[in-house]
Amino acid sequence: MTDIKSMNQAEMADYFRELGEPAFRAKQVFQWLHRGAVSFDDMTNLSKGLREKLSGSCYITAPAVERKQVSAQDGTIKYLWKLRDGNCIETVLMRYHHGNTVCISSQVGCRMGCAFCASTLGGKVRNLTPSEMLDQVLFTQLDSGVPISNIVLMGIGEPLDNFDTVMRFLELVNHPDGLNIGMRHISLSTCGLVEKIDKLADLRLQLTLSVSLHAPDDETRSRIMPVNKAVGVERLFRSCRQYFEKTGRRISYEYAMIDGVNDSDWQADLLAKHLKGTPGHVNLIPLNEVKESPLKPSRRVEAFQKRLEQHGITVTVRRKLGGDIDASCGQLRRKAMQES
Ligand code: SAH
Repeated sequence: MTDIKSMNQAEMADYFRELGEPAFRAKQVFQWLHRGAVSFDDMTNLSKGLREKLSGSCYITAPAVERKQVSAQDGTIKYLWKLRDGNCIETVLMRYHHGNTVCISSQVGCRMGCAFCASTLGGKVRNLTPSEMLDQVLFTQLDSGVPISNIVLMGIGEPLDNFDTVMRFLELVNHPDGLNIGMRHISLSTCGLVEKIDKLADLRLQLTLSVSLHAPDDETRSRIMPVNKAVGVERLFRSCRQYFEKTGRRISYEYAMIDGVNDSDWQADLLAKHLKGTPGHVNLIPLNEVKESPLKPSRRVEAFQKRLEQHGITVTVRRKLGGDIDASCGQLRRKAMQES
């Protein structure tokens, strides 16, 4: 059986040609799928014969709502979706003043091993497919009735560890016959897979790249992010500089503030030094406590912010949404797994 929603229109056109159908069917089916059709029977502008043929050879993915939590504080909605094979992933819908934003997952679990992150505790189970990534946007919009204008790839998983799928997802979600969400409304967050950042730079997409930095020195970064051991901060910043030079897009550096680990003045000074000469922006994140981890939120967020600002760096502190619903990614999936 073929996962038809993961195809782009060119692949669909080839597929229909093989079935002896005209290529324009591709556009029709693409439109149905990207409006959330869950059965070929719904596709009323196709002949009954074609619908039957498609039902016999393709399947249409549609995740089921396993759990849904709505924040009483700010309207944030968190979905735990059950996929075709029974695995679960999370999607969060956030209401920002600049637009309704979904935070989507790219893998079932994660193999990056960051010490502060709940998503990686059980390791990686598998990559998501392009259709499963698209469905998170599509079905969050359909279920909530909230029109979505922005996407952040900051949910469970490391998007650049599932590179080809993520590129296909971007092509699909960006398509004028589909959800038509512009690249400038999409952010991709990575723990810093440098070869993949270099590969992404060559594609010159207009999306926003976020780099989860969390420490400016190798000793600290390698301690909390194993991915750093083979790469190092210098090499990471080299890729970041090249990324900016090639794409003209400023990078956003994510920095979760951890008590006594990465919140010293010298670390702010070193971070500023790395950023000299590369336009970028630092986003300080108050650490979300994960119960399996001994790491605690920093009490120096403001001081650290001021110190960076004294060096002329642009800094924002992330507003916390959905604090009452385990809205930081990985936590709901984990809770559900432990309960079942
Ligand atoms: N793998 C990608 C995207 C998923 S994580 C990445 O590493 O960027 C999305 C963001 O949340 C990352 O910046 C990640 O470091 C951060 N994060 C993970 N656990 C966190 C926690 N407990 N508190 C604050 N931020 C956290």
